[in-house]
Amino acid sequence: MKVKTMVREYPIEKTRNIGIVAHIDAGKTSTTERMLYYTGKLYKIGEVDEGTATMDWMSQEKERGITITSAATTCFWLNHRINIIDTPGHVDFTAEVERSLRILDGAVGIFCGVGGVQPQSETVWYQADRYNIPRIAFINKMDRLGTNFFSCLEAMKNKLKVNVVPIQLPLGEEDNFRGVIDLINMKTMIYSDDALGAVFNEENVPSELAAKAKEYRARLLEKLAEEDEVIMDKFVHGREPSLKEIKKAIREATIKGKIVPVLCGTALKNKGIQPLLDAIVDYLPSPIDVPSIKGMNPETGEEEERLASDQAPFSALVFKIAADPYVEKLSFFRVYSGELSSKTQVYNSTRQRHERIARLLQMHANKREEKTEVYAGDIIAAVGLKSIATGDTLCSEKDPVILEAMHFPEPVISMAIEPKTNVDREKLSLTLAKLSEEDPTFRVMVNEETGQTIISGMGELHLEVLKERMLRDFKVQANIGKPQVAYKETITKSVKSEGKFIKQTGGRGQYGYVFLDIEPASSGDGIIFENKIIGGKIPREFIASIEKGIIEAAKGGALAGYPVVDCRVILFDGSYHEVDSSEFAFKMAASIAFNNGIRKAHPVLLEPIMKIEVLVPEDFMGIVVGDINSRRGKIENIEQGVKRKTIKGSAPLSEMFGYATALRNITQGRATYTMEPSYYGQAPKEIAEKIIGV
Ligand code: GDP
Repeated sequence: MKVKTMVREYPIEKTRNIGIVAHIDAGKTSTTERMLYYTGKLYKIGEVDEGTATMDWMSQEKERGITITSAATTCFWLNHRINIIDTPGHVDFTAEVERSLRILDGAVGIFCGVGGVQPQSETVWYQADRYNIPRIAFINKMDRLGTNFFSCLEAMKNKLKVNVVPIQLPLGEEDNFRGVIDLINMKTMIYSDDALGAVFNEENVPSELAAKAKEYRARLLEKLAEEDEVIMDKFVHGREPSLKEIKKAIREATIKGKIVPVLCGTALKNKGIQPLLDAIVDYLPSPIDVPSIKGMNPETGEEEERLASDQAPFSALVFKIAADPYVEKLSFFRVYSGELSSKTQVYNSTRQRHERIARLLQMHANKREEKTEVYAGDIIAAVGLKSIATGDTLCSEKDPVILEAMHFPEPVISMAIEPKTNVDREKLSLTLAKLSEEDPTFRVMVNEETGQTIISGMGELHLEVLKERMLRDFKVQANIGKPQVAYKETITKSVKSEGKFIKQTGGRGQYGYVFLDIEPASSGDGIIFENKIIGGKIPREFIASIEKGIIEAAKGGALAGYPVVDCRVILFDGSYHEVDSSEFAFKMAASIAFNNGIRKAHPVLLEPIMKIEVLVPEDFMGIVVGDINSRRGKIENIEQGVKRKTIKGSAPLSEMFGYATALRNITQGRATYTMEPSYYGQAPKEIAEKIIGV
């Protein structure tokens, strides 16, 4: 009998896999840094009252580089293990955001007490909504001039449609911000300024704030009563629920996504971070509190579920490949079910490959810890996996499963790239391969006609950042062309088309003859192929080749050779020859039929349309709107903020090149914006003519 020797260090219910989502500059880095600080050294040292010693430790750690940019950092708090998964702030990196959200059980939304709900916070918040991620919120920068806890709450309610439930109130604000009032136990935590927030005193609520605290506590209980029967019962009978009951009710309502508890503080001045850590443990779900993951059995095509349990078959999802120029490649994955040891084989069901795990590493703020095994709910980095990409499933071959694949948008922008010298040539192709492995929205291809290498991505900034990394981290010298829009083509009319590929002069001939119906389909459909051949007019073994011929032909359209998308191609008739028919002949016939067909089907040029949001001070509203209009943009909505407006709209990518600089110039640097691909729209005739060159 096999003796089980694997033992888990932490029970799964004491694990928290969380992400921190925020607008750039709201304080994500500062808050994460503080969290690692309090959970690391300081928490274990206990009372540190020597401010300077603490300060020294922090700056030393900084010099050594606290690796909070790691894809996942593990820390410990109140006997729980918290894995903090990095979520990038900028929406140009949609893929990064999506793949990290995909594996989170909960998240902390950080908001700036001055800026409130900024455009990016809105975008990331909605992305988190899409994955039903339970959240708590932290209103940061309570020390800054102009900060306002209550208007930030209002903005969350109105803009994000969140059922906000403050569980704290700020004690003072701006320069006078000293700590927080805990509405659950009605105590105040007052921080001493000279111990980097390590020391705080618990005191009673000061009398001038007692009424307000009481009012907000009553509101908290009222909100909880709507969701929780125990609280409701006590509420109706005028009895006070216990602290335990309140916390339990908050936890359950948060995990169900019914409420978002709100806390506050200042990361910079080290106030309010410990209660935030407490709230992560108290209110955010463990892997067993969220619905179990679903996937597909690659053999049967049936849906399967994997329970978050060590006893279930092993399954895990790769969410980040960190290509590092100096060390081995790290593949970060989240284990959903089962257990796995290092130095064993694992099956990549997405690629149908066996791989060997050389080492398993858990990343902490300042060290890497080698692990010999991992369990359901864990997040870990593996060394030794060779052919692997973000989104792949790892599992046991005996019980294969492919977990829900992640959805990544198509790249909309591309640039030609060529090595400066011959030495760079090989390095460049290796680097590009590494980077595209890391980032599924970054693609590399070689133009067969010109031999040029083309890189494509989600926006100008996306390619800029990748270009920087290439030069800085990988030291590849390359010339990079101007960014080009990735146009597409589609058709606007249904047509019938035939294609024949027949050669019967001596020896074995070729014979393939097909009839297609080609019809416009909906945006985002790509190419849909349907086979309606009946009575064996074309033997079944040739159908796949016909589909292949169509897909290949669709790579270059009739107008200017851009890929053709959004059409339905129906194979409805054809004929074959007993001896001369071949896969090749049918593939050719299908390509010919498709190419001829789309020519007659009134083809049009499609261009990527970007969704844009600009946050701009009142004074510059007119000029920004005018500028967007001059870029063929459409304004959909203008929202009034406290001092600034948010302009929402869309514009074609081709008109948005250099927008960062243009916006800075016309607003004296006072506006910020976000931009991401939205859809492909038909380009106006005069624009299309210019691009096609007729
Ligand atoms: P991120 O872009 O969200 O990661 O934000 P950072 O943590 O880098 O913070 C952005 C800027 O805001 C930095 O200059 C920080 O020093 C500052 N900052 C962060 N937290 C606070 C805070 O609580 N109060 C004040 N006044 N500034 C803060």
